[in-house]
Amino acid sequence: MQDAMTPPLDPAGGVLARHQAALNDGTFLIQRCGGCRKAVYFPRALCPHCGHGELAFEAPQGTGTVYAATTVRRKAEAGGDVNVSLVDLDEGVRLMSRVEGVPCSDVRIGQRVKARVVQQNGQGVVVFDLLVGEGAKA
Ligand SMILES: [Zn+2]
Repeated sequence: MQDAMTPPLDPAGGVLARHQAALNDGTFLIQRCGGCRKAVYFPRALCPHCGHGELAFEAPQGTGTVYAATTVRRKAEAGGDVNVSLVDLDEGVRLMSRVEGVPCSDVRIGQRVKARVVQQNGQGVVVFDLLVGEGAKA
């Protein structure tokens, strides 16, 4: 699946390697631009908003809103259906991930979610859980 969410080849500075190393340790990091102060994700060497080269890693709150949700149909022996969601973090960046812990059909646009890092095939990846109750308010 090639699209805008696919990470580019690692540019100078190894920011993608640092990001992945943090995920492998269970820590989700995004970047914040030292120039325009906007959040940046996926990690990159230059700010996509203003071109500034000073991007600092920071841990996001992890809360966000489902922007789009799809169900990818798979046979049961392949692991069954899987949810693919675009999530807008409250910091203002969008990422492709999945919402876990509920049937695919229960994931809807606008739902509040919280990020969690899981280890998958030896690599840390970000997934989301639905927020319910107080935490579900934007
Ligand atoms: Zn910037």
